[in-house]
Amino acid sequence: MSNLDQLTKVTSCEGHAKTSCIEALPTRDSILGEGMKIRRALPQRDRPMVGAWCFLDHFGPLAIGSGDGIRVGPHPHIGLQTVTWLIEGEVFHRDSLGYQQLIRPDQLNIMTAGRGIVHSEETPSEHSDRVHGLQLWVALPDTDRHTESAFEHHPALPRIERDGMDITLLVGEGQGEQSPARMFTPIVGYDIALTDSGARAFELDPSYEHAVLLTDGMITIDSEIMAPSMLYYLGMGRDALTISNESPARFAIIGGAPFGEKIILWWNLVARTTEEISQARDDWEAHRYFGEVEGYDGPRLVAPALITRLKAR
Ligand code: MN
Repeated sequence: MSNLDQLTKVTSCEGHAKTSCIEALPTRDSILGEGMKIRRALPQRDRPMVGAWCFLDHFGPLAIGSGDGIRVGPHPHIGLQTVTWLIEGEVFHRDSLGYQQLIRPDQLNIMTAGRGIVHSEETPSEHSDRVHGLQLWVALPDTDRHTESAFEHHPALPRIERDGMDITLLVGEGQGEQSPARMFTPIVGYDIALTDSGARAFELDPSYEHAVLLTDGMITIDSEIMAPSMLYYLGMGRDALTISNESPARFAIIGGAPFGEKIILWWNLVARTTEEISQARDDWEAHRYFGEVEGYDGPRLVAPALITRLKAR
């Protein structure tokens, strides 16, 4: 996916340390590729990251019909991993390493941009009526951010069913399971479908900060009712959550050790200095350094002008 937008100010939990804070952060509407409306949950002006998670788009559920669906032309990434998780529908990925991969519901794509990669994403010509999913970005630590680019498709992930929860572990370790996805920092991501009503505990790693995004229905965490179109930052130091619901619902939990490095996220690039961002931008616009994507029927994305000095945060 591809990012170009402004951030609005929100209230905060004061850093990472508060154990019982819940910070309700509104997502904002944004446009993905050639006109698809999505909700962007990260970055937030006062909450740029949750662990190493630095970007979160919630797209759909959207009826596609005979329309185009998702169409995001070739664009570059550096310094991050993209994590794509589908709840409904299909997305076809192509990249400059030569991977061409259809992703379906309950499957995960992990693209490690490292020193640089180009990809496109589109609804395939034969597709379901609806598309719904998440795309997240994970910042790479300084020690790994210049690594060779890579792509992984995981058709099946660890799944745990208990207490009316159908839990999928997307990345990292948790609930006694380990995801096969290759990650570079202590991190976790879950998709949780509530198939039965009630209240139950969900264990967390207290050394991580966490956040919750609802993708369907309504849930209560501890005593806070979670609304759609909001990201709930939960702080650090929690051993467990109490999750309750009255009807079927679905949500994601993301978490990780506080990242500990300041980053610049600009357009589709993650770096540490304005010079690095400017270099990557100019390389992309000059058709040098980055590879090519084969087979996408449409134009590559144009980088915006870089007119201000960027501040790492
Ligand atoms: Mn992208």
